[in-house]
Amino acid sequence: MTASGTHMSLAERVEELLAPGGPLPIVAAGAAVLRRAAEPYDGQLDDALLDRFVAALRETMHAAPGVGLAAPQVGIPLSIAVVEDRARGPKEALEARGRTPLPFRVLVNPAYEPECDARAAFFEGCLSVPGWQAVVARHAQVRLCGQDERGHTIDEVFTGWPARIVQHETDHLGGTLYLDKAPSRSLSTNEAVAEHWSQPTPEAAARALGFDLP
Ligand code: ZN
Repeated sequence: MTASGTHMSLAERVEELLAPGGPLPIVAAGAAVLRRAAEPYDGQLDDALLDRFVAALRETMHAAPGVGLAAPQVGIPLSIAVVEDRARGPKEALEARGRTPLPFRVLVNPAYEPECDARAAFFEGCLSVPGWQAVVARHAQVRLCGQDERGHTIDEVFTGWPARIVQHETDHLGGTLYLDKAPSRSLSTNEAVAEHWSQPTPEAAARALGFDLP
C-alpha cells in the first residue's frame, strides 16, 4: 500500500515511480498533468534521486523510441526534460528537416525565444499522442536558456530539427501539446503519413488535406 498521491512529496512520488525499474509508463493526452505548467525544479529531488530520474527518462525515451521526453509525460510535474536524436533516416529527409544529431541533454527549467522570423513546418508526433502526427510550424532557430542537471547554465542557439525538439519539450513543461499549434486538417495517422506524406516537406499534404503552410 502507498500513501495517496496528493499527500506525497514529489520526491516520494518519483521514488515510487522508479521502484519497479525499467522504462516508465508514458502518460497520454487527456491527463491533467500534461495541461498544467510544471513546477520549476529547485532541488525537490536530491542529486542522487535526480540522477536516477534522469536515467529513467532517458531509458523510457530510448525504449519508446523517441527523441525527447518531458517529466510531465511520466506524470511528474517538474520542469525537467531529456532530448537526444541520433538523426537516422533517408538522407533527403534529414537534409530537408535540418535533422542533425542532437547529443543527449538534460533541460532543467528551459525557456526559449525565437532568434529570427523564419519558421519551418513539418509533421511531428508526440509519445503522449500515440499513433498520430500533425504539421507544426515552429521557429527555425531559437535561443534556449535554462540549466542542466548539475545546475550549470544553458544558453545556446539551436537550429533545424534540434530547435524543433527543444521547442516541443519546453512546450510540454508549460502544459502545451504540439496539437495546440498544428492546423487540425493536417492531423494524420502514422500509417497515413507513411503511406502518403513521407516526402521531405509537407507541401503535398497541405494541398491535399487543405491546410496552410507559413
Ligand atoms: Zn511530446
